[in-house]
Amino acid sequence: MMRENILRLAGLVVIIGLSIFLFKTGYQVIGGALHLMTVVYLLWGTLNPQSRWFGPIQTQTENDQVWLTFDDGPDLRDTPKLLELLKAYRVKATFFVVGEKAEKHPALIRQIHEQGHQIGNHTWSHPQSTFWCAGPWRTYREIVKCQHAVEQIIGVAPRVFRAPVGHSNFFVHAVLRKLNVQLVGWSSRGFDGVSQDTDQVLKRIKASLKPGGILLVHENSEIAVDVAQAVLD
Ligand SMILES: [Zn+2]
Repeated sequence: MMRENILRLAGLVVIIGLSIFLFKTGYQVIGGALHLMTVVYLLWGTLNPQSRWFGPIQTQTENDQVWLTFDDGPDLRDTPKLLELLKAYRVKATFFVVGEKAEKHPALIRQIHEQGHQIGNHTWSHPQSTFWCAGPWRTYREIVKCQHAVEQIIGVAPRVFRAPVGHSNFFVHAVLRKLNVQLVGWSSRGFDGVSQDTDQVLKRIKASLKPGGILLVHENSEIAVDVAQAVLD
């Protein structure tokens, strides 16, 4: 994993070095263009949640069924209600949990697992504004610490990972490959983390949700349970 990341970093340094060399030796246009392309490549690959530039990401299921996923839990208020709903509708979902919350509420993690739902990794501390620019070691720590937290509680480590706000940086894929964990995105969301208007959120979900889609709903968002209820209806 580290070797792969070092090679990636070395490749990047060589390309940036080459662009500076070209720029300084009279090839300003080619050097500038190469530099710009490198920056665009890094930013687009990191900030676009659906980008496959750095590695594979799942954004569809393999059949026509919708995959229901809940991010940012476990949550003392929402998780039990969501579990009750899922039980009533006999639907299985995936909970992408934050490691430090999981450690705080192990009973909720056990409950999710015992009811047959999947638990995914959503980093240790959910550093949503800085994960995109995290270096290789911080990226590794954020992912591995959450794996260990979940494994400590239920005996098995997550097999799926979702990046905070979908920003999977340059180094995420090498860590996931080493841990044999799949990166999962989404095809539909209602921006329920931003808007607390259930109707608006449902409208956005309805417009984007298709057979085989992956739906993202956030726990701890005031309207999580209402949204889940409406979607299941
Ligand atoms: Zn999140």
